[in-house]
This record gives sequence, structure tokens and C-alpha cells, in this order.
Amino acid sequence: MNLEQLVRANVWNMKPYSSARDEFKGDASVFLDANENPLNDKYNRYPDPLQWALKEKIGKVKGVSPEHIFLGNGSDEPIDLVIRVFCEPRKDNIVAIDPTYGMYQVCADVNDIEYRKVLLKENFDLDAAKLLEKVDSNTKLIFLCSPNNPTGNLLNRKEIEKILDSFAGIVIVDEAYIDFASEDSWLSELDKYPNLVVLQTFSKAWGLAAVRLGMAFSSPEIIRLFNKVKYPYNVNILTQNFVSEELDKLELRKEWISTLLKGRDYLKNELPKLSFVEKIYPTDANFLLVKVGDANGLYKQLADKGVIVRNRNSVSLCAGCLRITVGTDEENRILIDTLQSL
Ligand code: PMP
Repeated sequence: MNLEQLVRANVWNMKPYSSARDEFKGDASVFLDANENPLNDKYNRYPDPLQWALKEKIGKVKGVSPEHIFLGNGSDEPIDLVIRVFCEPRKDNIVAIDPTYGMYQVCADVNDIEYRKVLLKENFDLDAAKLLEKVDSNTKLIFLCSPNNPTGNLLNRKEIEKILDSFAGIVIVDEAYIDFASEDSWLSELDKYPNLVVLQTFSKAWGLAAVRLGMAFSSPEIIRLFNKVKYPYNVNILTQNFVSEELDKLELRKEWISTLLKGRDYLKNELPKLSFVEKIYPTDANFLLVKVGDANGLYKQLADKGVIVRNRNSVSLCAGCLRITVGTDEENRILIDTLQSL
């Protein structure tokens, strides 16, 4: 992989903004360099633009060194950044599995980048050869999502390997739901594949969707490119401090995951007993894709009773399907009771 050839020339050649906090690091007693208001102590100072303290802590939990980590406002931020760093508008293209998480295409559209969708197999498995057929000399990125949203399944490891081995561009593996999965993360493969970008988030298993913190893991060279393009202070100090404390709750998080997996089993057992449930797809995430036939009708009936699920009827390969997130034990029971009463 030749990084210079892959990156947009303007990004490769530009000089990044240098903030006051970049130019002086260290201890001093008087800070008159950033036009801050010195009178409102505690939140008046700009935060560390590269969030090193938080990255150290995340790195220990993930077994990755801090230079391999980018932090953003949700993982939606690195999804947009990777496109802005690598793809030249109206020239380059992106290849991605279909169906998958909708933001890849939204960010491609916003950036005026052609987005080529390749259907998964009927059982939602990945066919690497079919995906690679869509690649041409202007393909900069391939987006994969494993476990995939909205289908819930892990993509086959061997097929992902084929893509990593034969594609000369960047391969993004979005692992937003990896903490619920029965297989290991791709993080351990970062050294082997310099073209790999792994996305994870605090929005799912960590229960911090409102806090907005997403992670991208990759080679230090790629992380430096993300840092070059991002807003200088993209992660505020409240988020940095709060997530740092939440990272101490490793045991509690394990308990949450185990509770949610039990909830998933409960739904997997109860849903097939309903006459209108035609199929429950295998899942490695904290949601289930359920084929019900009349998804629009059932969605509305549930909504009328105050139970909101995600209608995926109009998504490729998902006609007749609802996507149901695993809730608390009580929410799961209410869902099943409500479905039984229809
Ligand atoms: N990736 C996937 C696959 C998702 O499903 C989501 C959220 N639904 C995200 C990324 C974005 O997560 P966030 O921006 O909250 O980190």
C-alpha cells in the first residue's frame, strides 16, 4: 500500500491548524496563549486536542498503543473523516456491502463520492470475490460492518481476510457491536494489515450513546491523517473526563453484556412462538432482525401501543423485516406481551 498515492493530494500537502494547546505542552503557571476567559475556572480552558490521557486508558483496555487510536464525536466522525482524507470528490469511489449501516452512504453523498453497493448473499454472508469485482483503480475505501447492522451477523473472517489481502486501498471494519459477538475483534490484526481501520464506539455495550465518543484504530500514519483533518477540539472535556471514569466499570460492563445476551436469548425463544414471525436471523449483536411478513402493519400496531422497533421493510434483502433492539428484562417482556395481544 502506498499511502501517499491513496490520500487526497490536498490533504497530503496541507499544513494542519496548529492550536495554542499544540504549540505549548507542559506545565506553566500563567496561560495567556489561547484567548480563554481566566475567570470561570474548571471548564474555561481548551481541552487536549489529541486526548492523550483518555487514549492511554482506552489503549490499556483494548491492548492497543495510543498512537493507533483516533477519538471522535461518535464513530460517525471517523466514518466521515476517512472519506474526506482519502476520496477525491467526483473522481474516487467507495465499495460497500448492502444492506449495512446507512451513514456510510450519507457521508459518501455529502462528500460527492460515488458509493457502490454490493449485495450480501441471501443469508447475509459476505462474498469477497463479488465485492472485489466492483473495485477499480479509483476505489479508495471498502466499508464492512461486522456484526453487521441491520442484519446482526458477523461477516465471515476468511472473506474479510481475502479483501484485506487483495485490495490496495483502505478497508474499514465497523465493529460497533463487537462486544456482543462470539468472535474476537480485528484489533489484534492491525499490525498485520496497514490498510485496516477498525471502528468501535462507546454508544452500544458501554451504554454511553448520549456522551458521543467513537474510536478508530489504525496505523499511526493513518491516525495522523485523521488528526490533520479533524476539528482541533473535536472531543470536549466533559466527554473526555466522563468516559475516563466509565472505563473503570469493566466488571459492570461485563454484567450488562451478559444481561443483554440473556435478554437476546429470551427474545430468540419467545418470538418464534408468535404466528406472524416467519424467521429470526442469527445475530451477534444486541438486536435481532425478525421477518414478519407485514412489517409495515406490525410496526404501526406496535407503535400505537407505545412500543417502537425499527422498520427495515424497505432495506435491501430485508423486506418484511423489523429490527428489534434487546431492552431491559421488563421492556423485552412488554414487547412479547404486546405482540401476543395483537
Ligand atoms: N456503526 C454502526 C454499525 C452503527 O450501527 C452505529 C449506530 N447506530 C454507528 C456506527 C454510530 O455510532 P456512534 O456514532 O454512536 O458511535
